[in-house]
Amino acid sequence: MSFTLAIVGRPNVGKSTLFNRLVGKRLALVDDTPGVTRDLREGDARLGDLRFIVIDSAGLELAEDDSLQGRMRRLTERAVEEADICLFVVDARVGVTPADEIFADILRRKNANVILAANKAEGNAGEAGALEAWSLGLGEPLRISAEHGEGMDDLYHVLRPLA
Ligand code: GDP
Ligand code: MG
Repeated sequence: MSFTLAIVGRPNVGKSTLFNRLVGKRLALVDDTPGVTRDLREGDARLGDLRFIVIDSAGLELAEDDSLQGRMRRLTERAVEEADICLFVVDARVGVTPADEIFADILRRKNANVILAANKAEGNAGEAGALEAWSLGLGEPLRISAEHGEGMDDLYHVLRPLA
């Protein structure tokens, strides 16, 4: 038995960086340009002794009447539907944005099984932003650093019961 994990969240929070860390190959495009991943990408992830499928989704942006953003939103919803569990990533350095809040509502509306992660929290960075993420009402935010590999043990312990 394994499971599928979808990494979701607005652009630039570090979804593709986390995907690459879990998959161990540079399959997903990482870029400083917000929203550079426009598609769903699937890979075989390993974390400790866990093996699972991971999906890197496009982020959700909020501008109305924009077909690209509508498409990104639909892609994200598709990722949620294909996954057993969603890892909702926010940026601990930025804190909770209106986009994050609307995204949280979408995840709730879809009845998604959600793990909340506050990324870019390496060292002592992002303490306030990670605390702020409690306000999303999705439980305890895991403090992680996709880039530096911090918090992966906590992620392991949350995912372990699903395997
Ligand atoms: P995505 O749009 O959510 O897929 O985000 P990306 O993975 O493309 O990352 C966006 C930017 O955030 C890139 O410049 C990454 O190098 C940076 N980034 C990702 N994870 C971390 C992290 O843990 N710490 C820091 N400081 N930067 C990160
Ligand atoms: Mg990306």
